[in-house]
Parts: sequence; C-alpha cells; structure tokens
Amino acid sequence: MIPETVLTKPIERWYQSHPLLKRFTATEELCWCNNELSRFEETQHTLPLSASDIAEATQRLKRFAPYIQHVFPETSVNKGIIESELIRIPNAQRALEKITGRSLPVTLLLKRDDLLPISGSVKARGGIYEVLKHAETIAFQSGVLSKKSNYSDLASKACRLLFSKHQIMVGSTGNLGLSIGIMGAQLGFKVTVHMSSDARQWKKDLLRQKGVTIVEHRDDYGAAVANGRREANELSRCHFIDDENSTDLFLGYSVAGHRLQQQLSEQKIEVSQHHPLFVYLPCGVGGGPGGIAFGLKQVFGDNVHCYFAEPTQSACMFLGMYTGLHDNISVQDFGVENKTCADGLAVGRPSAFVGQVMTSLLDGIFTVSDENMYRYLALMKDTEDIELEPSATAGFPGIARVTSATDNCFSPQLPETAFNNGTHIVWATGGNMVPQRERAEYYHKGKKLENNL
Ligand SMILES: *Cc1c(COP(=O)(O)O)cnc(C)c1O
Repeated sequence: MIPETVLTKPIERWYQSHPLLKRFTATEELCWCNNELSRFEETQHTLPLSASDIAEATQRLKRFAPYIQHVFPETSVNKGIIESELIRIPNAQRALEKITGRSLPVTLLLKRDDLLPISGSVKARGGIYEVLKHAETIAFQSGVLSKKSNYSDLASKACRLLFSKHQIMVGSTGNLGLSIGIMGAQLGFKVTVHMSSDARQWKKDLLRQKGVTIVEHRDDYGAAVANGRREANELSRCHFIDDENSTDLFLGYSVAGHRLQQQLSEQKIEVSQHHPLFVYLPCGVGGGPGGIAFGLKQVFGDNVHCYFAEPTQSACMFLGMYTGLHDNISVQDFGVENKTCADGLAVGRPSAFVGQVMTSLLDGIFTVSDENMYRYLALMKDTEDIELEPSATAGFPGIARVTSATDNCFSPQLPETAFNNGTHIVWATGGNMVPQRERAEYYHKGKKLENNL
C-alpha cells in the first residue's frame, strides 16, 4: 500500500519533486542518472578515505596471505590472496543480443566473485578483511605478533586461545554472516551472527556447524543489525562489525580496484577516455559495491563508470541518493516491502556513509525485478554453465539499460561511441556456496519465466 504521506509530505508532492518515485512505488524497473557525478580530480580531496587507506588494506592482506594459505589451502593458487577471475562470456553476450534485439559490439566481462574462496561471495572481500584487521590489532596488543612475524603463527593453539576470549558480532542477510562466521571461527573467535528473516536456512546450518551462534530475527536486515549493535555494546571484548557504517569493510572491498586494473592489463584490455570501463555492481546496504567503486575510481578516475543494481523491492540506495535523505528514509516508508528473492540485496535502508561517498562518484542506479534476476540466472546456466545466486545477476540488465532511450541512464557527457568502445563488467557477487537443491530450484524458476519472454 502506497501511503498518503511520507515524512509529513503528501505522496503527490513527492512525485512532483522526484518523478522517478512514481515508478519506484509501483515497483517498476527504473534507471536513475546521478547529476552530482563530478570529475574525480575535483572531488578526490573531499572524500573521507584516500588511496593511502587502500594501500594500507592491501599491505595488511599481504601480511595475512601466508596464514590464509595455511588454513584455507584452496587459496594456494593465489598464494593466500582472496581474488577472483575476470572472464569473457561470449555465449551469454550473444543471447543478450537476441533478447534485447540490438547488437552489443562491446567487450563484456564477468567478475567471478561468486567463486571467491572461503565464502563464495563478494563478502569474502570486506567481511574477511575486517575480521583479520581486528585479529591483528588484538595480536599486536598482546605481543604475540608483529608486522615482521610469519602470520601462519596465528593458527597456533596459543593464538586461538587468545582470540577465544574475544567476541565478534554482526547483523546480516546471510552472506556477510557466512564470511565473518567462517573466518572468525577459524581464528578462534566467539562469533554471533544476527540473521534477518531473509537468511537462507543452509547458511544458518553451515555456520552452526562451525560453532557460530545464530540469532534469528523475524524482521528484515535493519532490525538484525540494530539488535546486534545493541547487544554488542553491552558486552566487553566484543567487536561489532557494522555493515551500515564500517570503513574497514569498505576498504576491504576497495582493494578490488587495483587488482582489477592488473587483470585488465594482463588481458591487454585498454581503459582510457576512448575505451571507458562500465561496471555494474549489485547493491544491498552499499558497502560492497561502494567500496569496489571507490577503489575503481582511485585507479581509473573519470574513465570508469560505476552503476549500482538493486531489486525493485529493495531500492534503498536509489531512494537515499535520489532524495538526498540517505538513511533518513527507507523503502518501507513508501510502502515498498523489501521482499525479494535476492536475499543478498534485501535491504530497506541504505548506508548513509556509502551514499554520501558515492554522491560525486556514481554514474547511476538501475533496478531489476525478481523475475528478471531469475531469467538471467537461467540464461547464465544455459549459455555459460555458470550458476549464480539471484543477487549476483542484478548487474546484467545494466548493459542494455544504461543506453536505453527511455531509461536514459547514460552519462550525458559521453558520446555514444564510448559505450560500444567500452569494456563492460558485470560483477557476479555470489553463488558458489549455494547447495545443489537450491540451485536447481532457482534455475527452474528462471526457466519457467524464460518461456514467457
Ligand atoms: C551483500 C551482497 C551484495 C551487496 O553488498 P552490500 O554491501 O550489501 O551492498 C551483492 N551481492 C551479494 C551476493 C551479496 O551477498
């Protein structure tokens, strides 16, 4: 039900001041072009974080690499650095041309964060980074570790005993809990995850097996985070990982920027004014896509165009940035329910921190229906034999949407040739840990819909 007034303003007046809200409240797909996007050079020094913060995070992850490789042998291929492949998806590209009815003479790539080791989602970047940073702080303070130590020592009994006297707490729709729970439990921490009602049963089961305490909430993500934060505040030696505000999480994601630069140069893909980069990032509360976009802007400046993708039901970052009200407004305030199959993106109120940082950096946001996420999920399985979770497919429509004449989400300063000369990266954010049975269900749903196309 669309309410008559929102924050004391009549809904009709909202529609006048912000016309896209009409589509938003009708939960129709939309595309918003950010007018406040600035030249990177001009905005860089106004941002609360900088390239040196990213460099520090990069160094920290390097220090931890021997430990990561030791306790998670699957990371050996990358010597303990948690990173994913960047691949071409030519079959999917042809299928997309067919569906959209237009040729896409672009370079289309898929970033395989669905295959990230340890927790199989983009959260293996930020979530694990913050747990490691916290562990390092404790270990430094107690004198068992210094920057020069071999970090594999952290797997010792003595270190695990040290960490077992400390707690980590987090609120999550599932994937962040998985990352933090798996990493935290491995180090020896007591971990408690406050799960929102969207969290899938298998994620809770898996974490319980690892000795993680799960608190189940009947409400959505915002309530799970608020409860976790409150409980953590009352405890001593308890670190709350604050998905809505954490700069550590954000920086953990941001190291993706220069790593992607490395991968692109290895593949001899040019990024320049004439060959810009377009990146489509699924967005929940904002930390993941925000951190990645921030890292990319540091590396590529005005030659990268970042777009966030949100479910029509959970377009909280769109709402916060479009109205400028950030976390002072939620999708529920407008009668939109935050009920989506994309559990990783099921967030009704955005991070104000991320929204503010993105104000001068983000090109735009588009929204995607649940049906279309299922369609893309099936398409990826059929054409490339890649199995994603629904959240991870949200970026796909970006390729067609940002240049669509009606949606007009294309940065006005860019000539259209930029789009065709460009490299387009769909960030696939999760899927590898999904159990076979659930994969089959997802695929089946997508197939049923595809026949209706
Ligand atoms: C969490 C998540 C995202 C988005 O990250 P946020 O930090 O919540 O914006 C995207 N995809 C998947 C699969 C996720 O789990």
